[in-house]
Amino acid sequence: MRERKHADVAVVGAGIVGLAHAYALAKRGRKVVIFERSEPAVGASIRNFGLIWPVGQPAGVLRERALRSREIWLEIAPKTGLWCMASGSLHLAYRPDEREVLLEFLETTPDAQESCALLTPAEVARKSRVARQEGLLCGLWSSTELNVDPRQALRVIPQMLQQEYGVELRFGTAVNVITMPHIETPSEQWTVEQVLVCGGQDFETLYPEVFAASGITKCKLQMLRTVPQGAGWTLGPSLCAGLTLLHYDAFKHCSTRAELEERVNRELPFYVEQHIHVLLSQTALSELTIGDSHAYGLTHDPFEYEAINQAILDYLHSFAAGANFTIAERWHGIYPKLEGQADLIVQPEPGVTIVNGLSGAGMTLSFGLAEEVLARTRL
Ligand SMILES: Cc1cc2nc3c(=O)[nH]c(=O)nc-3n(C[C@H](O)[C@H](O)[C@H](O)COP(=O)(O)OP(=O)(O)OC[C@H]3O[C@@H](n4cnc5c(N)ncnc54)[C@H](O)[C@@H]3O)c2cc1C
Repeated sequence: MRERKHADVAVVGAGIVGLAHAYALAKRGRKVVIFERSEPAVGASIRNFGLIWPVGQPAGVLRERALRSREIWLEIAPKTGLWCMASGSLHLAYRPDEREVLLEFLETTPDAQESCALLTPAEVARKSRVARQEGLLCGLWSSTELNVDPRQALRVIPQMLQQEYGVELRFGTAVNVITMPHIETPSEQWTVEQVLVCGGQDFETLYPEVFAASGITKCKLQMLRTVPQGAGWTLGPSLCAGLTLLHYDAFKHCSTRAELEERVNRELPFYVEQHIHVLLSQTALSELTIGDSHAYGLTHDPFEYEAINQAILDYLHSFAAGANFTIAERWHGIYPKLEGQADLIVQPEPGVTIVNGLSGAGMTLSFGLAEEVLARTRL
C-alpha cells in the first residue's frame, strides 16, 4: 500500500530554482514538498561559481530581479550559516578598447553611477591582492556582487527549509509523471494543488513536447578549481577582464563594444569559437573557482578538453597573479539556454508551472524570479 500525503505545492528539482521557489512558498505559509532525483542535487547549481552577479544584468526588470535576489541571499545567509561574501567585482581593462567600453557603460547605464566606479590601477591594487598590475589601465568596481559557496548552499538551504518551515524533502526520488492532482513516486502518492517543475537541463522526463516547442537548448561549460589558498585568505572582489564585456547583456548597448569584439575576433579566435570568458571567484574553503567555456547543443559529449582548460588558465594569468593557481579539480556543468530570453515559464496543464531557462544566471536571478512567479500564478 502506498502512503497518501498532501501538500499545497510540489516542487520538482532541488537545484537553486526549485529551492528559491520552495523558500518563497514556505515563507508564505504554504505546505511544500520537494522531489529531487539525486541525493544531493548535482545539476548546474552545485557546479557553478557561486556568483550573484547583478552587474551583468541589463538595466530594468532583470537588474531589479538580480538585486532582489541579492537581498534574499543576504537574508538566508545568517539563517543557514552559509558563507556569503559581499565581495563586489572588478572588471579589469588592459587594452584601450576595453577601457572605452567601461567608460561608456558607466556613462550610459541607469544607476551604474550609484553602485559602480572606475578605479585607477593604484585603487584596484588597494581592493584586490590578485588583480595583475602590469599593463592595467583601469578597473570597473561594482559593489553589488555576492560570492557564495554553491556546494554549501545546495546542502544548507534544504536543511533550513525543512527545519525552519517544515518543507518535506524527498531526495533520491524522481518524478516520472504528473497526473494532476496526483504525483506518484515508488513509495508514496501525493495529492497537491500546484506543481512547479524546476528540472533544469532535464527536458526529457516531464513535458518534453513543451521544451521541444520552446527552442531551448543546452550549454556545456568547463570549470576548474584550485587548492585552498590557506586559512583566512580572501580573494576580495570577484575578478574578470575584457572578454566578460562581450559576454553579459549589461554591456550590449555600448556601441564601443563593436571595436573590442572586432579585435577579440582577430586576436583570440579560439576563445571566440569556444565562447570563453574568464571569471574568478572563491569558496568557503578559500579555493579559487575558475571558468568558463560555452558549447551549445541538445546533446553534449561527457569529455573535458584540456585545450579549453589551458586557454581559460592562460587568459586568467593575463589578469590575475599572486595566488596559488595549482588546479585540484576540473568538471563541467550544463544549463538550459533560450536565446533572447531570460527564462522559460510555461503552464503545460492547469496547476502545473515549468520554471526553466535561467541560463548562466540562476544564482543571480532565482530568488527574485520566484517571488514574481508566485505573484503571477497566485500561489
Ligand atoms: C559551470 C556553471 C557555472 C555557472 N555559474 C553561475 C554563477 O556563478 N552565477 C549564476 O547566477 N549562475 C551560474 N550558472 C547558472 C546556474 O548554475 C543555473 O542557472 C542554475 O543552477 C539552474 O538551476 P536549476 O535549479 O534550474 O537547475 P539544476 O541545478 O540543474 O537543478 C535541477 C534539478 O532538478 C532535478 N530533476 C530534474 N528532473 C527531475 C525529476 N523528474 N524528478 C526529480 N528531480 C528532477 C535534477 O536532478 C536537478 O538536481 C552557472 C552554471 C554552470 C553550469
